[in-house]
Amino acid sequence: MTAEIIEGAPVAERICGEVAAEVARLKAEHGLQPGLAVVLVGDDPASQAYVKSKGERSRAAGMHSVTHLLPGDTTQAALEALVADLAADPAIHGILVQLPLPGHLDEMPVIELIGPDKDVDGLHVVNAGRLVAGLPALVACTPTGCLMLIKAALGDLTGKHAVVVGRSLLVGKPVAQLLLAADCTVTMAHSKTVDLPSVCRSADILVAAVGRPRMIRGDWIKPGACVIDVGINRVPFDNPEQAALGKTKIVGDVNYKEALQVAGSITPVPKGVGPMTVAVLLHNTVLAAKRQAGIPG
Ligand code: NDP
Repeated sequence: MTAEIIEGAPVAERICGEVAAEVARLKAEHGLQPGLAVVLVGDDPASQAYVKSKGERSRAAGMHSVTHLLPGDTTQAALEALVADLAADPAIHGILVQLPLPGHLDEMPVIELIGPDKDVDGLHVVNAGRLVAGLPALVACTPTGCLMLIKAALGDLTGKHAVVVGRSLLVGKPVAQLLLAADCTVTMAHSKTVDLPSVCRSADILVAAVGRPRMIRGDWIKPGACVIDVGINRVPFDNPEQAALGKTKIVGDVNYKEALQVAGSITPVPKGVGPMTVAVLLHNTVLAAKRQAGIPG
């Protein structure tokens, strides 16, 4: 058996197209141009690439887009002053501060300053709480993207057993809440979980959000399960000659080759969950702009 590949890019393209059409409508009918501000502290190459792509995609969708690139030694006070300015700027409807921040900075006060209305990454306690309470919220982008891909692959999720490996505020916890809201029975696993392979083997839907390359092996997967690999890990090439040249590639948290033989469906890394994150960010920004302007829908 070979698993069906769940490609994120076509779904993400469709969402970006819908966002662009909605932006055009908002401009024409309401004179409203949704605005997204992305803030990056430091010069991590991967984060720079994500931030660049967020700026490009939001401009391509017709949105107002600003990017703030701050040096790695930016102080907490300087970062907070910038975010407070953006929070007060009526042309900006969504603010994303690229995480993780350098170690000397504390992310929670920054997220607090963004405020729930412009928190397009769904990290503010009000949005996290509204998600748990089943109320309308801005929900974290990657988890929303995961759920869209799972529904595209499986349709109705009622009664399915979902195992989420990882319990971060950014990915694991909101994914689990979204699966619960979709009537799955949800198990959350983490670094202290006992006998993780057995827990994973009980999953109809297995979401891996760990940050450990190829940790989930093929024999941890129930035959026919839907596997969503959120992990983005940079590792040396398998080929020793290329590895010796220092060449690296991106792999997920799941051993893809092994999983392909067991799973019913699986997201590749890259090009699985990754493209969904940016698409949902644009979607969330439009949603935030409409709510701030009092436009229904
Ligand atoms: P975090 O480091 O914040 O969380 C990792 C989680 O994995 C923790 O809950 C940790 O458990 C758990 N974990 C660590 N080691 C083990 C282990 N050996 N067994 C079981 N659980 C373990 O990471 P994030 O949630 O932010 O990101 C996870 C992955 O997803 C990363 O690779 C990241 O790059 C990727 N990512 C991808 C995105 C995309 O767009 N595709 C977006 C965001 C993230 P504990 O809580 O006990 O420490």
